[in-house]
Amino acid sequence: MENLDALTSDALQAIEQAQDIPGLEQLRVQYLGKKGSLTDLLKGLGKLDSSERPQAGASINAAKGKVQDALEARKLTLSAEAAASQQIAEAVDVTLPGRRQSAGGLHPVTRTLQRIESIFTSAGFDVVQGPEIEDDYHNFEALNIPAHHPARAMHDTFYFDSGLLLRTHTSTVQVRVMEKGEAPFRFICPGRVYRCDSDLTHTPMFHQVEGMLVDENATMADLKGLLVEFLQVFFEADLDVRFRPSYFPFTEPSAEMDVQCVSCKGEGCRVCSQTGWLEVGGCGMVHPNVLRSSNVDPEKYTGFAFGMGVDRLAMLRYQINDLRLLFDNDLRFLRQFSEGQGI
Ligand SMILES: [Zn+2]
Repeated sequence: MENLDALTSDALQAIEQAQDIPGLEQLRVQYLGKKGSLTDLLKGLGKLDSSERPQAGASINAAKGKVQDALEARKLTLSAEAAASQQIAEAVDVTLPGRRQSAGGLHPVTRTLQRIESIFTSAGFDVVQGPEIEDDYHNFEALNIPAHHPARAMHDTFYFDSGLLLRTHTSTVQVRVMEKGEAPFRFICPGRVYRCDSDLTHTPMFHQVEGMLVDENATMADLKGLLVEFLQVFFEADLDVRFRPSYFPFTEPSAEMDVQCVSCKGEGCRVCSQTGWLEVGGCGMVHPNVLRSSNVDPEKYTGFAFGMGVDRLAMLRYQINDLRLLFDNDLRFLRQFSEGQGI
């Protein structure tokens, strides 16, 4: 009993110094819990002489009451302090500038594809798609490139074990469209193509757009007119276009087309290797064998086809000097295309 006053004042002091609710709870258990020090004193009452018990019991209960009150008071204080500091931590500074949602943008290749599609659809062409995993027949055979044809060596093809392959050009789609439909045809097929080739100017995956028109009386002059018009609209400039004789197994005659350098307008510069011209694609009159293998009568119909490198057109239009920039996914580069340029 002589300890009671000391115990009580220790308890009150400890409670006053408690820094948080868990610490306070620990003190409650320490003094008032089932095995707490004040509870122990009550349990010890039995050992006292019966005349002392009422007095001692009253003192201990009074001490317990004081400790209880102190605990509750401290708890209120601590809760209030915690609430106040939480409020400060969560306060919104309305004077801070807002965090803007940054607008995404279209990839320059996507923009270029959309631009090409919009120009050709305005000329009455459909846009069609085909599979990227192809069979040998649609990628080569039906395009007048039989097995052992030397032109196969120009296509560094990715083959699968099953005899399938990743298409090396979008011309495969021509075959698929002609197989299914009836002439006349007028469509473009943009998409990804794959070749086992990687250096400064080649990537294993790149984009092509192939176009085809099959009709009675389609001529090379129609082809030239369409492509010249396309290139001038695409580059928004009155550029010269020239056609050079070339060879493709699926067209006859065949030509490569060059457009006047968009950087120097034909003067000669680094972009065009001082030639004044930029190669943009190949074209020609569809070979009768190709029409025949797709069940189109070459005696009744003629057609022309053309193919262009989309990545190259994107580079020329947006003045990008390294092909690999298009596929690095560097946001610093891509952000330049995120707004304001239309397609
Ligand atoms: Zn030039």
